[in-house]
Amino acid sequence: MDQRLHSVISELKTHYKPADGYDLRVSYYTYKNVSHTIRLRDGIIYVRISDKLTDAPDETIRAIGVILFDKLFGFKTCKDVRNSYRTYINQFVVPNLPAVKTRVARGYSAQGKYYNLDEIFDKMNRTYFSGTVSKPVLGWSLKLSKRCLGFYDQSRDLLVISKIFDKKRVPDYVREFIMYHEMLHIIIPVKKVNGRRVVHPPHFLKEEKSFRDYELAQKWLKKKLWRLRF
Ligand SMILES: [Zn+2]
Repeated sequence: MDQRLHSVISELKTHYKPADGYDLRVSYYTYKNVSHTIRLRDGIIYVRISDKLTDAPDETIRAIGVILFDKLFGFKTCKDVRNSYRTYINQFVVPNLPAVKTRVARGYSAQGKYYNLDEIFDKMNRTYFSGTVSKPVLGWSLKLSKRCLGFYDQSRDLLVISKIFDKKRVPDYVREFIMYHEMLHIIIPVKKVNGRRVVHPPHFLKEEKSFRDYELAQKWLKKKLWRLRF
């Protein structure tokens, strides 16, 4: 446990009334990406902060804490806090990330025939993650596939969405849902349970349902996907 990290976050916790009565576990975590997560389970709030932030000043750690607690309790984070976080990341973290992105993603493009994945990613990031998910390499799939709707490859930090969705006929909420689902894979890594890989653990499925048009998207995928012509 990191003492400084723990004291900054637990001090912050006292400002959140709904957090009363919950225990707190705070740790740095090695995400491939600059991500941070918060989770409430069995009366314990788990906060995990990207280990790329170990040198960050208290102010930045506090900003992350505010963003995460706000998210957990459904408060809107004020702009100043988000900006202060972004400014630090862009200035001190992003330049130090390994520059593997352009090399491994050859062939993939975020710009489709009709839709741009950068824009969809940014919108989902703002709406559901308070802008805390750092951008992976984004690309429409190279082949048309109905079986693989999308994937996130952690080793390349590559998020791909099947280009069957790059069509005017496909409603925005479907593209956004697929993006949202793949973004959850960035912050909820694959779990090993008894040697078995669990790709969609229960709390993944729970988070997935907080997508605003979850039911609509499910319905569309069930009914319309197979009718899409290539
Ligand atoms: Zn998945």
